Amino acid sequence: MSKGRALVTGGAGFVGSHLCDALLADGYSVVAMDNLLTGRLANLEHLRKEPRFEFVQQDVSEPFDSGTVEYVFHFASPASPVDYAAHGIPTLKVGSLGTFNSLEVAKKYGAGFFLASTSECYGDPLEHPQKETYWGHVNPIGPRSVYDEAKRFAEATTMAYLRYHKVNTHIVRIFNTYGPRMQINDGRVIPNFMRQALRGEGLTIYGDGSQTRSFCYVEDEVEGILRLSRAEEHLPVNIGNPNEFTILECAQRVLAVTGSKSQLRYEGLPQDDPKQRRPDISKAKRLLAWEPKVDLESGLRKSLEYFRQAVGAEVSPRT
Ligand code: UDP
Repeated sequence: MSKGRALVTGGAGFVGSHLCDALLADGYSVVAMDNLLTGRLANLEHLRKEPRFEFVQQDVSEPFDSGTVEYVFHFASPASPVDYAAHGIPTLKVGSLGTFNSLEVAKKYGAGFFLASTSECYGDPLEHPQKETYWGHVNPIGPRSVYDEAKRFAEATTMAYLRYHKVNTHIVRIFNTYGPRMQINDGRVIPNFMRQALRGEGLTIYGDGSQTRSFCYVEDEVEGILRLSRAEEHLPVNIGNPNEFTILECAQRVLAVTGSKSQLRYEGLPQDDPKQRRPDISKAKRLLAWEPKVDLESGLRKSLEYFRQAVGAEVSPRT
């Protein structure tokens, strides 16, 4: 069925570009907006000839008007710890000013609004697994605060537009997501390990590798996001894969999938690195009848060709 226009801020990013594909498949016309600070046009190259797709280069931290839209998906933000450390102030601005500007567009056109929030709202959590009702344990002045607090502020702003302006808002808390189109050098654990394994270099384990993460394949993540966008739920919903791995186990999976003989290389643990992270997804299961289907090993296999090509095409390695 044909639908109206959907705006995706951060549409040239990793998750944003997969969301553009899913919205087009769902019948929307899609406007992807991105300032290309960490997003890449290569992620949208396959849509260049799609008549229902347009790209607008725009920093959404500056006021903008996209024209009539039916839905605003606010996904713009640096999202890897290396990227938001490098771009701290733009990260704070896009979570705050960018969220206001995107909500103003939704309000102006009577559109739905969807915020991409994050498991980082829980910080280094003292409650495990993390339910949506947990308020978190965040260092407000540490190196990760530019992202964590920007997203917490973005959630507060979104709830305020729901309460004061009756905008039809939705909030997803995205947990570690991986798959094709991740930037090979964005510093996150899966691209780092895939790249190191494929180049035969040591896999960099920060700390002793006992910290945990729960990795969600991007197709599963986007399916959860689409379902939430159609639901009558305004409070945050966790979308992630609850299968939890230590970083050492993650390294072993990458070595198995790539067939690499790389060794492990131990390095210092970054400040405030969360010790454990795992979503409680009972709310998503109940409300959306959603749960992830792709386990870590299958997801890594599905991503292998992309990472191989990205490593092959690399000209000037950043890390
Ligand atoms: N990590 C690691 N080696 C790397 C990159 C990351 O051991 O080369 C660890 C990092 O310290 C963290 C986890 O992997 O505990 C996930 O890091 P990532 O940057 O992917 O995202 P985060 O979940 O911390 O936002």
